Amino acid sequence: MAAPWDVIVVGGGNAGFCAAHSARQEGAQVLVLEKAPRQWAGGNSYFTAGAMRTSHGGLADLKDLLDPSAQDRFPLTDLDPYTDDDFLDDLVRVTRGRTDTDLARILVGESRATMDWLRDLSLRFELMYHRQAYEVDGRHRFWGGLAVGVVGGGKGMIEQHLAAAERAGVHVRFDAPVTRLATAPDGTVQGVVLVDGEVLESRAVVLAAGGFEANPQMRAAHLGPGWDLALVRGTPYNTGDGIRLALDAGAQPYGHWSGCHAVAWDSGAHPTGDRELTNQLTRGGYPFGIMVNTDGHRFVDEGADFRNYTYAKYGAEILRQPGGTAVQIFDAKAARLLRPEEYASKNVTSVASGCMRGLARELGIDEDQLASTVEEFNASITGGPFDPTVKDGSRTEGITPPKSNWAQPLETPPYTAYPVTCGITFTFGGLRVDADARVLDTRGLPVPGLHAAGELVGGLFYFNYPGGSGLTAGSVFGRRAGHSAAALAAGRAR
Ligand SMILES: Cc1cc2nc3c(=O)[nH]c(=O)nc-3n(C[C@H](O)[C@H](O)[C@H](O)COP(=O)(O)OP(=O)(O)OC[C@H]3O[C@@H](n4cnc5c(N)ncnc54)[C@H](O)[C@@H]3O)c2cc1C
Repeated sequence: MAAPWDVIVVGGGNAGFCAAHSARQEGAQVLVLEKAPRQWAGGNSYFTAGAMRTSHGGLADLKDLLDPSAQDRFPLTDLDPYTDDDFLDDLVRVTRGRTDTDLARILVGESRATMDWLRDLSLRFELMYHRQAYEVDGRHRFWGGLAVGVVGGGKGMIEQHLAAAERAGVHVRFDAPVTRLATAPDGTVQGVVLVDGEVLESRAVVLAAGGFEANPQMRAAHLGPGWDLALVRGTPYNTGDGIRLALDAGAQPYGHWSGCHAVAWDSGAHPTGDRELTNQLTRGGYPFGIMVNTDGHRFVDEGADFRNYTYAKYGAEILRQPGGTAVQIFDAKAARLLRPEEYASKNVTSVASGCMRGLARELGIDEDQLASTVEEFNASITGGPFDPTVKDGSRTEGITPPKSNWAQPLETPPYTAYPVTCGITFTFGGLRVDADARVLDTRGLPVPGLHAAGELVGGLFYFNYPGGSGLTAGSVFGRRAGHSAAALAAGRAR
């Protein structure tokens, strides 16, 4: 029987849509199968800020990429170039040298061209003044290697992907959970099987079904004890299905299976993502205050690096604290540095007080201990001057853990505290792919007909992650996966 589809894409998030667009551009008949119902479209990608890390040559170089309607502040904007070397160095540094350099070089080297490709597909980009720049001396200064985002964030991104797919004639089917691959006796992938037993045949399959972050059992099994209790920041549908069905077909597990991206997250949040608040439940302002556990002790260097290079690993540090919770504390002068969407939107869990002891009482933390932690912190500060756009060297001396940058005394009431817990974003372990995003088996050979992109690919991220890399990785490898799947489909007999 002739296969009705050239390429089936499993999962309708950013990586899946990039694979679908790319395969369709090669002339393939493409079907995207999405487990979630229509009202949960977009997977984790919907929940994002839409931030995308790309190498670039500075503002002038980015102009063509950015939406013309969002360029009015350019004359007052300072944005240094971010080269391929900078991007690669950041990846290598935060992953402690473990990133798969073949994959990392592809990600970095194709990041900018892939953004242009997305723009040509009608995705719209802007500079993220509200998230990645501070105003200093009347100028908007970008920091932390991340500047570009999709207009409308993750919600805008999915809307734009869906519109592009519809224009191009990509078919999308919701409520279609794939449970297994259909394979020939020689292992060649020939399609997929849905949960109700329906078989859909295709010449190639691209898996883009996310990680296992929304599966408490897999989290506990792979990330370790306590991880079943983490809150999930995004979609409840990423339960590791794509990874498991590929492993069942002989794929090779790869990457940091006990590692994940997890952040400081509002302790009052739901167990899984909120479609309205999405990313607003993140609490990423800790470089401008302190984080203490419920015993009143600090436990991380809040200023070790720009937020973009620490936030993804600090969720795990919070989970390790008593009760898996912590509190971020700021004084009044830090308020202007906190992202309003994270700290001043509705449903923010917080308490405020005119004095530190009052705050401790409100929080149920030992008063003497919190007061002494803050006194010790304030007395240890040296260096400066304070500048949020550079690693300013305003630091502590003689306390453990130190705070290496942006250390300012907590002395200007009122003091506000934000209780946080660990919010898991996505898991780092997954499948092994080659440069063409073909899934490799345990011998290192391609599983015929099987491709993969996005969160379920392992090998790029270990321990930590440079902010904004996930969407770019999904785009770069999604585009490659779609291309190679379509090429394979074209070569297979119709
Ligand atoms: C709150 C939040 C904020 C974030 N902010 C950013 C950011 O600003 N920038 C950035 O780069 N990254 C960000 N990330 C990370 C980012 O979401 C991921 O890196 C990226 O979206 C992954 O894309 P994906 O297509 O692989 O997965 P997803 O977008 O999650 O798509 C996977 C899809 O597969 C579907 N699926 C699962 N199982 C099956 C099955 N059996 N059959 C069919 N379909 C299935 C799921 O329902 C889902 O729709 C954020 C994540 C969260 C949760």
